[in-house]
Amino acid sequence: MYTGRFAPTPSGPLHLGSLSTAIGSFLRARSQKGKWLLRIEDLDRQRCSREASDSILKTLEIYGLEYDGCVIYQSRQVEKYREIIRSLQFRNLVYKCSCSRKRIKALGGIYDGRCRNTVHQENQNFSVRFRNPGTVLSFDDIARGHIETPAAESGEDFVLLRSDGTVAYNLAVVADDETEGVTEIVRGADLIPVTTRQLNLISVLGYRTPVYMHLPLILSGTDLKYSKQNHAKPVNESDPSLMCATAMKCLGLILPPDLCCAPPREQLSWGIKNFRIDGIPRNNQTVSY
Ligand code: GLU
Repeated sequence: MYTGRFAPTPSGPLHLGSLSTAIGSFLRARSQKGKWLLRIEDLDRQRCSREASDSILKTLEIYGLEYDGCVIYQSRQVEKYREIIRSLQFRNLVYKCSCSRKRIKALGGIYDGRCRNTVHQENQNFSVRFRNPGTVLSFDDIARGHIETPAAESGEDFVLLRSDGTVAYNLAVVADDETEGVTEIVRGADLIPVTTRQLNLISVLGYRTPVYMHLPLILSGTDLKYSKQNHAKPVNESDPSLMCATAMKCLGLILPPDLCCAPPREQLSWGIKNFRIDGIPRNNQTVSY
């Protein structure tokens, strides 16, 4: 059965960009008569809050974005991820790294594998990295076609466990999509660059490979990505019908005039019937509100 999901990081309330991702994955799943799951990716305690995840749940309710089953909170299943790291350790597919952020920044942000063969003392502060075989360099996106990522990025030995003990997003996302039986991942285009490295981990873990569809990013009039980082306006402080219509337009769905001011639920039912992959724009969408 088609199984999709929305997996927000609760570092703030939903903004137009994340709402449009939620709507895109919801419409796709429902148009396939599939399931649509909700997972709160709240592993990073510095960035995430209960307040933000509650606000996201409330917004989804206001917009009629009804998910199937219970909400999964990643923070409640840390042991599961640690177990996966242990299994990789057993297979010599991870290693400890004590390189500083400063050093990696100086390398241009892509880690060079310096600690691959270094033995660390127990009391050292270290992160745990994936010994990435780097065999997957490309994937086929159902909306955007064949996408290749530079070998250095696809094959980067990325962090699985940070030095402060936080499990990294790239591991948790792969683990949960497998456990939850997600068949298709519909998410924002900002995650295209990390897809091949996730596929390398999926391959090593012997997980099923999901289908991917990346949705356009929404930029404000000044060309910034709509995100919490640049203080995008939370959508629950705005007119839901207008916001829903705007988010749908960014996905190539132009509502008929009589539905422009209708409640979001009605707009979404029209969207389910009219959702088309080839109607989704490939470029970023600029919106001002
Ligand atoms: N939690 C990620 C985010 O909010 C999305 C993860 C994903 O869809 O793969 O950006």
